[in-house]
Amino acid sequence: MKKKNIKILYIEDDADARALMGDILRYQGYTYLEASRGLEGIRLAKLHKPDLILIDLMLPDMQGSEVTTHLKSLPELKSIPIIALTAATEGNIREYVLAAGCDGYISKPININEFVFKIEEFLAGKRESVPPEFERELLHRYNIQLVERLKRKVSELEQLNKNLSKLNEDLIASREELARYNDLLFYLNSLANELRTLNDPQKMLKILPARIVQGFSIDRCIVFEYHPEDRSMSYFSAHGQFDFEVEKLTFKVDREFLYLLKEESGLLWVKDFQQIKDSTLEKVGKKLSCSSFILGYLKEFSRKNVNDSFLVDGETEELDQIFKIDERYLIYIDKCYSKAKFATYEIRILRSFFQSVAVIYENMQLFNRLKELYKIKSEEAIRDGLTNVFNYRYFVRELRKEVARTKRYNTPFSLIMLDIDFFKEYNDLHGHLEGDEVLRAISRLLILNTRSTDIVARYGGEEFVIILPGIKKKEALTFAEKLRKLVKDYQFPDKVHQEPCSLTISIGVASCPEDSDDPIDLVRMADQALYRAKQNGRDQVCVAAKEK
Ligand code: GH3
Ligand code: MG
Ligand code: MG
Repeated sequence: MKKKNIKILYIEDDADARALMGDILRYQGYTYLEASRGLEGIRLAKLHKPDLILIDLMLPDMQGSEVTTHLKSLPELKSIPIIALTAATEGNIREYVLAAGCDGYISKPININEFVFKIEEFLAGKRESVPPEFERELLHRYNIQLVERLKRKVSELEQLNKNLSKLNEDLIASREELARYNDLLFYLNSLANELRTLNDPQKMLKILPARIVQGFSIDRCIVFEYHPEDRSMSYFSAHGQFDFEVEKLTFKVDREFLYLLKEESGLLWVKDFQQIKDSTLEKVGKKLSCSSFILGYLKEFSRKNVNDSFLVDGETEELDQIFKIDERYLIYIDKCYSKAKFATYEIRILRSFFQSVAVIYENMQLFNRLKELYKIKSEEAIRDGLTNVFNYRYFVRELRKEVARTKRYNTPFSLIMLDIDFFKEYNDLHGHLEGDEVLRAISRLLILNTRSTDIVARYGGEEFVIILPGIKKKEALTFAEKLRKLVKDYQFPDKVHQEPCSLTISIGVASCPEDSDDPIDLVRMADQALYRAKQNGRDQVCVAAKEK
């Protein structure tokens, strides 16, 4: 038989030894197999049926002698020669391994030439054996050792089994916890989505306690409003059973308590308030008859200094005010009726939930304030700063709209343009500030005597325009006359002569579609009529005339 067809399996845990053996045997032309553990060796032996097995006596999982005994007990493998290789030198080791079933014994370190020769001998059929007088005694000893090792193995296995079942229990518990965790997260996610759809931060905090109780399997939840001016906190909203009027709940808050909250990054998990020795916590715990509870302070969860990141130096105070978020709310929760304890994972989730609530709250507040600001600013943008009637820009926009409406629905409207007569003289005599007062007074007169649907605007300087929707020329003329008289009869202050003075206005009227259905044309025609009124001696109304 060619050596290449001869398979030798080496079972050895030492990698260097295996590498060396591999080199030697391959060099000799053998097919070399190796295993680093007893069980692996048994598996390979069954799979490849090697012609020779070399085995180390000390293996990590079982003893070499055990592997041998096992292999020799298998009918299909028992004829394979198994040679023990060991550095052990204690007395009778050779006899011992032979008694365990080995067919030979080679001591380490090996002498290569001798080793190769011995291998060939074993392959050729050589078998070593124990002298018969020893064999019985050795076998007896070997069996005793085997039984002891087995006992040890069994107790090790029992322990392993115990550990495994403990591990299994833990796994089941954590699986359940994970499921609860997952349910809670899912609930919180949908809750956060629900809260986000609200746009009133106060309303959100009103419904929050009921939602928290529902989701967290807790008994009671109270939202407190904190008042920095007198350092107190009072009921804002709550859910759960209380044996007192929770709406009347109010506490004085000590400075230390706020520090404590800050130190805990906004969430205090009070396991027993008596151990914390904080007077505020003691008051809360006693009033609520609960020694273990959680208190969260929304302020500590908000994105701090949001204004810093938004505003550039020197931006207006108005904006500063907008970005100043007031997170005045504290959230109290307990499990005092069920007497259950909070789990650490619940605290973790609560913490991140409070963070979401704070951010949602902040966003809502910011959104509402920006909306308010937008309203103010857009109102300002269409008003004249001095007189508070609409400005030129708004007038132009409305005039265009009104013309469009006329074209579409065929509804008429009129445009009145009026100018104060000799206003320059008034200014020169009384001063500009008094002149401003006159402009305000006339504006008031105009507003008081027009309908809410009419558009009164300052066209510029001491000139005003009025859009009168639905009014035809004839009625507009009557109305203009009324205005003219109103102003004429109005007593404007005259500080110079110490008596009221009177002022007059000149008015031009043009109507749509009668005079024109083009906004620019219409203004031009009203202006021309006004010019004629001035030319004709002022203090009068002229209507637009068709050009010849
Ligand atoms: P006329 O009868 O031809 O309209 O004479 P007038 O003096 O009113 O007309 P003019 O155009 O010569 O002068 C307009 C004056 O209106 C000049 C300016 O001092 C005054 N005026 C324009 N805007 C303001 C304002 O906002 N405040 C004050 N106090 N005066 C203004
Ligand atoms: Mg004038
Ligand atoms: Mg003028």
